[in-house]
Amino acid sequence: MSVRGRSYRYVGPADLKAVLRPGGGGYAIGSAADFSIWVAARSAAELAEPFTFVVGTDGVLRLAPRRSEHVACAGGAMVLSAGEIHFTREPGRWTVDDVSNHSTGYCPDVSSWPDVARALDGAGLGRPSGFTHEVVFRRCPGCEECSIVREEDFVCVFCGSDLPEAWNVDPADGRGTLRDRRSGPA
Ligand SMILES: [Zn+2]
Repeated sequence: MSVRGRSYRYVGPADLKAVLRPGGGGYAIGSAADFSIWVAARSAAELAEPFTFVVGTDGVLRLAPRRSEHVACAGGAMVLSAGEIHFTREPGRWTVDDVSNHSTGYCPDVSSWPDVARALDGAGLGRPSGFTHEVVFRRCPGCEECSIVREEDFVCVFCGSDLPEAWNVDPADGRGTLRDRRSGPA
């Protein structure tokens, strides 16, 4: 039994979600056996690159080629985390040497790490003790743009407003994505 973190909705452009096809999600890795099958089908060139990953609300890791959109990898569903991940072969097992929460489609908080850790443990993978690259996403309370906070500079790059300390990307009112709202009637 485990306590899961918050679930993240897709907050990116609506047109990307519109191209989703049923059954087109990423490869689900629920066990070490699943990972063995998946990794055996990858070329060395593929494995040299990072992969797009999501952790579904079922806690299962899903993988897709690097340039895949996270929302496609998730089959359009909500996720517990999302980002980029890279695997390396160690004696006797595969391990994760790089993993980030870099997903502009879901903008997950760095606090989603425990769900990633559980998913990687469930796949029998070695892993670091946290994201090796943490991305801080915030939505500007002034202009409502979502952006990545760089070098702890909590100022909106679009309008100069101060950004909050706490994660705030998903609109709490459930009105959909920012772009959905902006593209509606004025
Ligand atoms: Zn702003």
